[in-house]
Amino acid sequence: MTVTADVRDTVVALRREVCALHEQLTRYGLVVWTAGNVSARVPGHDLLVIKPSGVSYDDLTPDNMVVCDLRGRVVEGDHAPSSDTEAQAYVYRELPEVGGVVHTHSTYATAWAARGEPVPCVLTMGADEFGGEIPVGPFAIIGDDSIGRGIVDTLRGSRSPAVLMRNHGVFSIGPTARAAVKAAVMCEDVARTVHISRQLGVPLTIDPADVDSLFDRYQHVYGQQKDPR
Ligand SMILES: [Zn+2]
Repeated sequence: MTVTADVRDTVVALRREVCALHEQLTRYGLVVWTAGNVSARVPGHDLLVIKPSGVSYDDLTPDNMVVCDLRGRVVEGDHAPSSDTEAQAYVYRELPEVGGVVHTHSTYATAWAARGEPVPCVLTMGADEFGGEIPVGPFAIIGDDSIGRGIVDTLRGSRSPAVLMRNHGVFSIGPTARAAVKAAVMCEDVARTVHISRQLGVPLTIDPADVDSLFDRYQHVYGQQKDPR
């Protein structure tokens, strides 16, 4: 497979977008060293754009992003793709509505993942963004489909765009790469606040009917309707 002329402009734009979105991971303190990445689907093609493996965030450029097929094989790029490419490719193969995937080991969310405990829905922002608890996925070793399968199996049964993979970290999805980054940022924020609340006492639950109405309002009414989230 190659990047054909009809998709050239889209790939160039996505290289820029995916590169720029990595700045949000460092801005919000979600990553250290090179651990964490953003990818985007190339709409209408079995391709994705992802961070190169082991390149520091300061050295990322649109040109060193890597284009892969949905089996994780490099189609265009001088670098090896992120070691999470296979997992993310699996997500794009199985969930056609997903346009972006993000992976981080952000501290508070990963602390919940280390305990294998979902983050309960005790904040309106949790209801807004996740529509309930932030679920935990299975323990999975890197190197085959098991991480991708764990992400897909967990998120298929959930309204949450983020999953805490047990003993590992966060994978988030969205209709766009930007939406997936937002979900990763919100996941860490909710995990941090609920963690702190737990230190102080027992967080109060939100009635499931209120969770439903908050989620529905936020997903369909909130914000500038012309702006894609
Ligand atoms: Zn990881």
